Amino acid sequence: MSKPIDVRAAKRCPIFGKPAVERYRPFCSRRCAHIDLNRWLSGVYAVPVVESEEDDAAERPDGEEKAG
Ligand SMILES: [Zn+2]
Repeated sequence: MSKPIDVRAAKRCPIFGKPAVERYRPFCSRRCAHIDLNRWLSGVYAVPVVESEEDDAAERPDGEEKAG
């Protein structure tokens, strides 16, 4: 039960926690790099936290259609 562990590859993908690939480090794949990038961008250019108080919308009964 002994697995060769690369000390240099100690860094793991922050997305899935998989060992990072040299090509896409610190991510394990190109997809993860994109995900992280999107997260970063969305965090900068967009505010995910949107708190708005919405009044209780009164439900309106839909008009009944008469079948002729
Ligand atoms: Zn990954």
